[in-house]
Amino acid sequence: MTKINFNVTESLSNQITDRFYESEMQLSNQEFQDSVTEAIYEASDEGILLVDENGSITSHNQRFATMWNIPRELLRGVMPGTAIGVNDSLVFSSLLGRVRESQLFLKKIRTLYDNPFLNDFFEIELLDGRTFECRSSMLKNKEDNYLGRVWFFRDISRQKNTENDLIALTRQDPLTGVANRRYFFERSNQEFARTQRHSNTLSILEFDIDYFKEINDQYGHAVGDEVIMVLCACVQNLLREADFFARIGGEEFAILLPDTNLEEATNLAERLRKSIEEFKFIKNHDEIRHTISIGVVELKPKDTCISDCLLRADNAMYRAKQNGRNRVEIGD
Ligand code: GH3
Ligand code: MG
Ligand code: MG
Repeated sequence: MTKINFNVTESLSNQITDRFYESEMQLSNQEFQDSVTEAIYEASDEGILLVDENGSITSHNQRFATMWNIPRELLRGVMPGTAIGVNDSLVFSSLLGRVRESQLFLKKIRTLYDNPFLNDFFEIELLDGRTFECRSSMLKNKEDNYLGRVWFFRDISRQKNTENDLIALTRQDPLTGVANRRYFFERSNQEFARTQRHSNTLSILEFDIDYFKEINDQYGHAVGDEVIMVLCACVQNLLREADFFARIGGEEFAILLPDTNLEEATNLAERLRKSIEEFKFIKNHDEIRHTISIGVVELKPKDTCISDCLLRADNAMYRAKQNGRNRVEIGD
């Protein structure tokens, strides 16, 4: 096993000091340079791992061990700035066990070791919910000989969580917490593609509250809001995990039912209609009752896009209104 010592230290030092200092920095002697390297190495909020040209780990900073929660015995003897040489497969297999898509991570690592002069930058999700940004750069000496590679790992979980929260907000209806119209169309397009790819079934329910204006007029808009919220909770209770429920208008809703044929969807629509009809919303001793009109459709081979299917659901729902409300109509 080849030990990497002076060259790697020098190369890493150059890379790291370049990143931190724009100006030219003349280091007077090797000892001073080594101590600067180690100070920067340890001060970094990134986990840093150095691997030599034979795939042996030559050093890491403390942050690397703590962020990955690597057992001490696995990295025993690998002190920052030293060149001990621990076979990296042990360490990498320990990392792989903590990653959500470990095969993908393994593929990335293999590609980098198969192509030593490649640099890479990617994100990985850990099983414990954290997200790390990984960068891997090759190290070379002045003669362009490959010396190994340096890995930088940054914990970006906070930033990722904020990003995910923002995405969730853009997809959510603020009143009810269910998916909004925009997200419904995004999901229905995906579901349409998936259904076609796997020759599965897909059904859609669309419904609107009957005479809702009267509820607003009689009890006020705030109570109307509460009725909408309670209705959403009732509907959600009747659905499976895979069903996708959204508020697509003021008091208009839609449900995507993957792997569901027309008969099953119609049965669900009838159960839904009945439970809303029977539900009593009590407000200030008043019993507020309401009903819904539902259109049901199943995706057909003639539907070239999800809009074709949604249009049929829309027409069926309006037919339910015309035919007396509080009823289920099946789309053509
Ligand atoms: P129909 O049976 O024909 O559906 O009669 P409708 O009175 O329900 O008529 P329509 O669906 O056209 O009217 C919807 C009403 O719902 C109009 C609007 O003021 C009210 N609405 C829409 N969004 C909200 C909301 O977020 N909160 C409340 N309280 N009312 C809403
Ligand atoms: Mg209505
Ligand atoms: Mg309406």
